[in-house]
Amino acid sequence: MYNLPYTNKQINIPYLLKIGNGKTYKIGKYLIDKNLSGVALFLGEGTEELVGAELRRGFGDNGINVVHCQVVNDISIESITQTAFQLPPETDVIVGIGGGKALDFAKYSAHLLRLPFVSVPTSTSNDGFCSPTSSLTVDGKRKTVKSSIPFGVVMDLDVIKSCPPIFFYSGIGDMVSKITALADWKEAANRKLERYSDFASMLAYNSLDLLFIKHSYDINAPEFQRSLSTSLLMSGIAMEVAGTSRPASGSEHLISHALDEVSVRPQMHGLQVGTAAYLCAMLQNNPSTDSLRDILSKTGFFDFVSQNPFKKDEFLQALRLAPEIKRSFYTVLSEPDSYNRAVEFINDDEILQKLIK
Ligand SMILES: [Zn+2]
Repeated sequence: MYNLPYTNKQINIPYLLKIGNGKTYKIGKYLIDKNLSGVALFLGEGTEELVGAELRRGFGDNGINVVHCQVVNDISIESITQTAFQLPPETDVIVGIGGGKALDFAKYSAHLLRLPFVSVPTSTSNDGFCSPTSSLTVDGKRKTVKSSIPFGVVMDLDVIKSCPPIFFYSGIGDMVSKITALADWKEAANRKLERYSDFASMLAYNSLDLLFIKHSYDINAPEFQRSLSTSLLMSGIAMEVAGTSRPASGSEHLISHALDEVSVRPQMHGLQVGTAAYLCAMLQNNPSTDSLRDILSKTGFFDFVSQNPFKKDEFLQALRLAPEIKRSFYTVLSEPDSYNRAVEFINDDEILQKLIK
């Protein structure tokens, strides 16, 4: 029973927010405009080659002083803590550029040091670049750890458009998972097991509308990529507003966490949650199941996943494990008949037959 009093709480939102073309060069200017000249820079593997020249040209032209620069491959909490507390005192801001690891490393370092963090994602594969949590390893296991929402987010659509399709499909999968996450949250709140935030849920629904209502479903279309970027960003902010990951993560994320544990080779986060969201929407009798199926068909998500389908034995194992992953976290998978119903859908639904083999 959730019986803490309802009060207004302080919500952090990104103060610096730039999404558009040619933004990499401008990062230096954005930082100087905010009086942040001493930069500790954390890059993903391959990021230097991708954006390094443009970034440093902008830094040079604006008098940015790079006080620390590191390529991130180890995201253990021990190594982050050690690095963070050794950063020089001239550090004004921590900038993370890359995919998940560099951003999580930089975000958590900034959280430890109470320094502003500027998040510069080079792909749109999930909503982690603007969320209040970091995905780190603790004792060798992947854990979601509380952090602070970024002070700034800069997305260069010229960089993002060069990503291979898998990153866009993963982002789409992470976005549609809000449909099932929101339904699980609402049901948990109806049962008085969770506190609900109307505003956070409105934000999350609006972030979905951006993807559903507009334009073409061509993942290569600039307007689609812009909408996907904005949607994922809003999803991150919805978590901050809610004070919980509930608006962005429900039964479908539990299945994905379980797949990470049981699979010989786990797939990209958003491919797992997107596939699981389709299944969970049917389990929930979710009124948006048709829209969800529609967007995943039209964008080519289903075709993409079916080229490298999930292994059925692993998926079923994950399905059994999923409700155990977070105890006292109510989702549709907490219902006693869910496993059997899910197996029926996996066996009988024409789309799922292609995704899970
Ligand atoms: Zn996610």
